[in-house]
Amino acid sequence: MIYDVIIVGSGPAGLSAAIYAVRAQLSVLVLEKEYMSGGQMLNTYEVDNYPGLPGIGGFELGVKFREHAEKLGVKFINIEVRHIAEEEEGRVKVLHTNREEFHAHTVILAMGARHSTLGVPGEKEFSGMGVSYCATCDGAFFKGRTVAVVGGGDAAAEDALFLARGCEKVYLIHRRDELRAAKLLQERLKKCGNVEFLWDTEVAEIRGDDQVESVKLRNKKDGSERILCLEGVFIAVGMKPNTGIVANLLHLDKNGYISASEDGITEKPGIFAAGDIRTKHLRQIVTAVSDGANVISSVEAYLNRQ
Ligand code: NAP
Repeated sequence: MIYDVIIVGSGPAGLSAAIYAVRAQLSVLVLEKEYMSGGQMLNTYEVDNYPGLPGIGGFELGVKFREHAEKLGVKFINIEVRHIAEEEEGRVKVLHTNREEFHAHTVILAMGARHSTLGVPGEKEFSGMGVSYCATCDGAFFKGRTVAVVGGGDAAAEDALFLARGCEKVYLIHRRDELRAAKLLQERLKKCGNVEFLWDTEVAEIRGDDQVESVKLRNKKDGSERILCLEGVFIAVGMKPNTGIVANLLHLDKNGYISASEDGITEKPGIFAAGDIRTKHLRQIVTAVSDGANVISSVEAYLNRQ
């Protein structure tokens, strides 16, 4: 069988695309490495910025998306896509997996991205219990509290600015003595009365009981250690897009994301990208879901031209 569209990844972008594909009466198949692959929201304790569903658990929201797609008849296969090839002058895409081959006229890449981690003791244990990788998602839970942001790039600077609006105190912990973030962001940070920079400093351990209570800091220059009491640790040390299987097929930007705009169109006709995997400014559930809708419009236009 040659599907109209095969979606790789089943996070919010993939599931939204699947829902829109069925409703556009396209034959659709979703290939997922594991249940809800590409979906960072499964590990999100609480989602408080998805309209209409305040405070919903990330896992619960993910399951709702999936049940919606299943109810409309979307078929899912747990399988690992290894690489994608083209046949018949590009009109048919062949998805090679760890078990069998699948054929489609179009492919939507929705494998998502993952946050880089510090890899320190306590980070995994307190994920969702004070450790967060998304200030926009979780910042509101720390209103009036003391938090830290780890990192020195644009994401860390933006997170610190965002958090400084609601938190009592924000420490910006960076391993060097200068930020790589845009100068404009740096200037804004310096003007915030409640942001304190901790230079040449790394987080050696995140501590607490049920929730984060403190971090152990190590000065990289003299090796001295100290404990800093706080309630939240926002880690912004970069993201890694899951683009390994298409690295030889598509143009990736310098950070490894697929170059595509809101319409999801890549430089390869019939191959589309949606969600966190593509170049974009804001990576959120709501923007991924929006990509899913947009990309099906592009898929339909492509199929109509064939
Ligand atoms: P990034 O620019 O790669 O910065 C990552 C930061 O984390 C760096 O300061 C790095 O330190 C630090 N870091 C990396 N690994 C670490 C570790 N193990 N421990 C402690 N610190 C660590 O990543 P990003 O801030 O996520 O930005 C990614 C891309 O998105 C960039 O191109 C950025 O410009 C873009 N972005 C743009 C905007 C915007 O335009 N408004 C917003 C967000 C992101 P070093 O400096 O020492 O390497």
